[in-house]
Amino acid sequence: MSKIKNADIEINQLHSIADKLSRDLKKIGVNTVADLLWCFPRRYEDLSQIKKVSELQENEVATICVKVKNIKTYRSFRSKMIITEMIAGDDTDDIKAMWFRQKFVGQIIKPSDEIYISGKTQKKNSLWHFNSPSYEKVKQLKDDQIHSARLVPIYHLSGKITQKQIRFLISKALKDVPYVEDPLPVNILNKEKYPWLNDALQEIHFPSNQKSLKSASQRLKFQELFYLQCKYRLAKQDYQKQASYNIRPDKNILNQTVNNLPFKLTMDQQITLVDILADLQKSYPMNRLVEGDVGSGKTVIAMLAALATISDNFQTALMAPTEILASQHFISAKKIIDKKFHHQIALFTRTQMISGDGNKLTKKQISEQIKQGEIKLIIGTHSLIQEKIKYQNLAMAIIDEQHRFGVSQRQGLKNKNATKKVPHLLSMTATPIPRTLSLTLYGDLDISLIKEKPAGRQVIKTFLVPEKKRKDSYKFVREKIALGQQVFVICPLIDESDKLGVKSVKQEYEKLNTEVFPDLEIRQIHGKLKSEEKEKIMADFKENKFPILVATSVIEVGVDIPNATIMLIEGAERFGLSQLHQFRGRIGRNDLESFCLLFTSDESQLNKQRLQAMTKSSDGFELAELDLELRGSGEIFGTKQTGLMKLKIAKLSDTKLIKKAQDWAKEVTENKKYLSQKQLQVVLMELKTEMHLE
Ligand code: ADP
Ligand code: MG
Repeated sequence: MSKIKNADIEINQLHSIADKLSRDLKKIGVNTVADLLWCFPRRYEDLSQIKKVSELQENEVATICVKVKNIKTYRSFRSKMIITEMIAGDDTDDIKAMWFRQKFVGQIIKPSDEIYISGKTQKKNSLWHFNSPSYEKVKQLKDDQIHSARLVPIYHLSGKITQKQIRFLISKALKDVPYVEDPLPVNILNKEKYPWLNDALQEIHFPSNQKSLKSASQRLKFQELFYLQCKYRLAKQDYQKQASYNIRPDKNILNQTVNNLPFKLTMDQQITLVDILADLQKSYPMNRLVEGDVGSGKTVIAMLAALATISDNFQTALMAPTEILASQHFISAKKIIDKKFHHQIALFTRTQMISGDGNKLTKKQISEQIKQGEIKLIIGTHSLIQEKIKYQNLAMAIIDEQHRFGVSQRQGLKNKNATKKVPHLLSMTATPIPRTLSLTLYGDLDISLIKEKPAGRQVIKTFLVPEKKRKDSYKFVREKIALGQQVFVICPLIDESDKLGVKSVKQEYEKLNTEVFPDLEIRQIHGKLKSEEKEKIMADFKENKFPILVATSVIEVGVDIPNATIMLIEGAERFGLSQLHQFRGRIGRNDLESFCLLFTSDESQLNKQRLQAMTKSSDGFELAELDLELRGSGEIFGTKQTGLMKLKIAKLSDTKLIKKAQDWAKEVTENKKYLSQKQLQVVLMELKTEMHLE
């Protein structure tokens, strides 16, 4: 049998497989033999303990090694179902096994064969029975034993692929691809005592024991994280080779503006501002993420950064995810930035085109003024970089409520300047991201944290409300509405689901509208509405045109509803803590006492403990860390997976390995001697980690 030299070949060249199987494999991302090797088990079943028949216990899952005495296949008298019946035994006793509708069993297993069977035990008439157990012939070589009598890998599969098929293909690949080039530098392998790649692959799929499995998995995780970190570092080095605007802000104007603010900047705000101003004065583009909890005061930082560019006669585009948020920023800009600059500021969205000194503009006028550089701070939605707007000298792009600039956004920006200079990039997010996570997700960005909240911020009183107090809560809501205050009701779903007990917006809306508050105006908002409809509803709610808004998670971004003081969250167990924290950031935006009431149908201790954390902490970072610990990283970002990537084997919570990978990546990329040219190529290749930068 000829051996294969390279793993980058179609699976059909390894073993001829049916089209159907090939399609199912593609569905789980397996096209080549390399993909197959990188399709790691989801878990392992420990079938390594072989028992004697005499040692079996009632109702356990056990593996035994037996010799077949008799095996016959027949159709059941009534239903005509194919049944295979086997009597086999070891030197202690006999057993009986039956398989139903599995016509191959009788063709594979023959009398006198030695086989392993694993399954649940059952005693009938003093004979041990196994009902459709898994089975495998005893192999000469231990490595060939892949379905039983060992730690057996279980894979994530889809379609009609069976565990047996995938195990067979992987074990064939491991055998026939004699040597997969090890991309890790030898120094690292030696120093960390990691196994070679070939051994690690063998052990991750078919572990000899728990210990070697652990070291294989550590090595493969490390490899993934290490390359990710190398990629980040190289991307950053690359990025810093590009030319950008060298901005020299007018210090007097900035100082004056800061002094005129109705409040004093917090220490974290000041540090962030200093970082940004330093970046703007470098000759390569800034790529910075400002992370700060809801209400930590990111807007003023954005405005001051914008003012810094304007004061040196450059342009800035400030983008928000929705039109309402854009107009909210426009209002803030006019408040923060001195009047004498107002004619240089404009709001430019689909529905509103207006300059800071109050002139309504046509699309043509505003485009012309941007092109001529008369307007210097342009506030709008993402269309500011997607559309064909031409700038005179766009020196900075700020993006609010997003973690990073996506690839296409960066591409869009590149062509905005005739000079081919890359604008400085500043993104802002209210998602508190635990440090280890941001190392993995945002290793290529510089990060400023605004942890400190402005003084005097009120804490939103949060309660986990038992079902029997629901009525009281509604009474409480009614009292607050009578005082002119407003209420959010958040539900996990839009439509009724088949998942019993999970509340949907439509259902909840119906209930509140007909049973609980038939006399009050209630509206609903969710992701299936058109964006104009959503914007209209939010705008009306902001103006207090109705008291109750039932919503899905669409309301999580920063719209200010100053009059909203209560938030009811249904099915709170369905949301991550960070997400819940983001939700409740929508209320408590004025000096009225505000309340967040959590309802849950999940009575488990873990869930209660998790939700209790919401009632005790108002620190987004702390909650995010806790979430990461309790439920993993998916929760931090809730439904919007922005910036999340798919890791094949490492987890975002592998804190120690992430740190280690980061240290090695620094060492290796700074002292290129560790990496051969070929290995460097591998780093630059997409490797096995998909980065979702959109
Ligand atoms: P976010 O970080 O959620 O975007 P905002 O920028 O909207 O928060 O700020 C929330 C509110 O806090 C605004 O009304 C803003 O004027 C106010 N604010 C910002 N910084 C401070 C500060 N240092 N002291 C007091 N209030 C502040
Ligand atoms: Mg904001």
